[in-house]
Amino acid sequence: MVSKKKALEMIDTIDQMFPDAECELKHSNPFELTIAVLLSAQCTDNTVNKVTQDLFQKYHTPEDYLNVELSELENDIRRIGLYRNKAKNIQKLSKSLIDKFDGEVPNTHQELESLAGVGRKTANVVMSVAFGAPALAVDTHVERVSKRLGICRWKDSVLEVECKLTSIIPKDRWTKSHHQLIFFGRYHCLARKPKCGECPLFDDCREGQKRYKASLRAVGGVS
Ligand code: SF4
Repeated sequence: MVSKKKALEMIDTIDQMFPDAECELKHSNPFELTIAVLLSAQCTDNTVNKVTQDLFQKYHTPEDYLNVELSELENDIRRIGLYRNKAKNIQKLSKSLIDKFDGEVPNTHQELESLAGVGRKTANVVMSVAFGAPALAVDTHVERVSKRLGICRWKDSVLEVECKLTSIIPKDRWTKSHHQLIFFGRYHCLARKPKCGECPLFDDCREGQKRYKASLRAVGGVS
């Protein structure tokens, strides 16, 4: 693994690459954000935004989601992966918001994670984006790039990745870094075709070096 100092230098470089990174899930309040993040599991933000464009016109409150048959809500989000399960969770979550939180999205990790379909990552996103609290959510992009760069170990759990990143990155940068690491993974260090040839972190990146050597071997450049 790289040192903390080197890891922070890498984070600084990513900061310079994506200074304006921000949440790409369209929403206008904490409730819409919570629904959007719940829908985004194993689905692109782009697809979620296409679906929520109509969804948020039709449903405004937790009551709205409960006032329709489950099959109707399923149909409204059917373009999203795992839509049946997600529709069920949206209705359960809506009921909990009404029963326990006066219809409002709560602003603590513990309360958020008590809601159906809301895990640590979703709670972190809602806490940081909707309520401005310091939190660093680890999604698939954040996990992949942190491991490729050697900031974390390949065998680290998602929680270990979060702990490692929050121990390296100053607290007032957690939210911004979360978005920047996502942008870095989404637009530069892509899962299948990372842009190693034009990467400012190439010299320090073990994954980039490994891929480069493999490409040389493939053309007979090195043994
Ligand atoms: Fe990702 Fe390649 Fe850059 Fe490493 S060198 S961070 S694998 S794009």
